[in-house]
Amino acid sequence: MARIVVAGAGAIGASIAYHLALAGADDVVLADTGAIAGGATGRAMGGVRQQFTTEAEVRLAQESVRLFAELGAPLFEQVGYLFLATSEPGLAELEERRAIQRELGVPVERVDPAFVAGLRVDDVLGAVICREDGIADPAGVTRELVRRAAAGGVEVREQTDALELDADVLILACGAASAEVAATQGVELPVRPLVRQLADVGPIAELPPDLPMTVEETGFHFRPASGGLRLAMGEPEPRWDGPAEVRDELVEDWRARLAHRYPPAAGAPLVRSWAGFYDMTPDAHPIIGEVAAGVYAACGFSGHGFMQAPAVGAAVAAELLGETPAVDLAPYRLDRFAAGVGFPETLVL
Ligand SMILES: Cc1cc2nc3c(=O)[nH]c(=O)nc-3n(C[C@H](O)[C@H](O)[C@H](O)COP(=O)(O)OP(=O)(O)OC[C@H]3O[C@@H](n4cnc5c(N)ncnc54)[C@H](O)[C@@H]3O)c2cc1C
Repeated sequence: MARIVVAGAGAIGASIAYHLALAGADDVVLADTGAIAGGATGRAMGGVRQQFTTEAEVRLAQESVRLFAELGAPLFEQVGYLFLATSEPGLAELEERRAIQRELGVPVERVDPAFVAGLRVDDVLGAVICREDGIADPAGVTRELVRRAAAGGVEVREQTDALELDADVLILACGAASAEVAATQGVELPVRPLVRQLADVGPIAELPPDLPMTVEETGFHFRPASGGLRLAMGEPEPRWDGPAEVRDELVEDWRARLAHRYPPAAGAPLVRSWAGFYDMTPDAHPIIGEVAAGVYAACGFSGHGFMQAPAVGAAVAAELLGETPAVDLAPYRLDRFAAGVGFPETLVL
């Protein structure tokens, strides 16, 4: 059987390696220039949602939720994703999305957000929740996938550049470095790093145990994390190409937003803030598939790769082993950009 080298031990590479082992591949190396989950995965919010605007993203998330649910707490907690509308256009958009999602089989329901004790709802015009969505520990999940991969015979090599290893098939799962690594193979990938920042505040007394990931119409969102809350929001001026550094003014803005939306957290001290990279593609869908002879891409996850890692790993492993993947990979091929086909995912948080 061919020797498969997976470049990158983030959530995507780990899941591919695990699923290859599960499917019986017997010569697989998982290599990372740094440490397991040392890239975007270890910096992620850990949100797992099926609520997207395009079928391409919904399908990957739907397939993945099953593995997350099997992992269970504390790696994954099905607290739901609650979206709030505070304007008439926002409400119309929420309803439009809900219709698309329900048609695709995502159990999204209208809900009275007052069920979340302490949440300010007097300015909320409508809300939806998918209770199967939730929050996970990205580094913990990835380490578990690597553990399972290693138990299945995968050779795991940290501090190793995959490009230095002999491979019949090289899988590029290098996150924000993917375009750079692909270039060494003569392949041009439209993957661009975008800075993304998070902040933890806390402790916060008496957080309701069922507090969902809560997403405002503004894009500001928060989730429970270690007795406090983890905050994030898209930035007014996108920071392309880095550096991935923390901007204090963003943290202050989010804390003010949190004090409005969830008054029990007003004044909660900042624990830490950090930044990493989204690996963006022009349409916010990933690039999955062979991109040159013996070179296979699994990158460009545009801010939602952690939650899609289980489905992507299973589908890539199946395709590489000549089986039919459970998810149709056709929408994610690199050649869609040349064909000019446009179906961008717009719900990038
Ligand atoms: C702040 C932030 C919040 C996020 N929140 C969420 C969220 O809530 N939900 C969600 O689903 N996603 C989220 N994401 C996105 C998510 O983290 C990524 O989509 C996902 O982790 C991508 O995983 P990956 O394995 O492709 O990349 P990475 O985790 O970046 O891993 C790539 C790895 O490749 C390695 N590498 C690079 N070059 C080589 C080489 N030549 N040889 C070997 N190894 C190499 C790197 O060292 C790195 O470890 C967030 C991202 C950030 C930055």
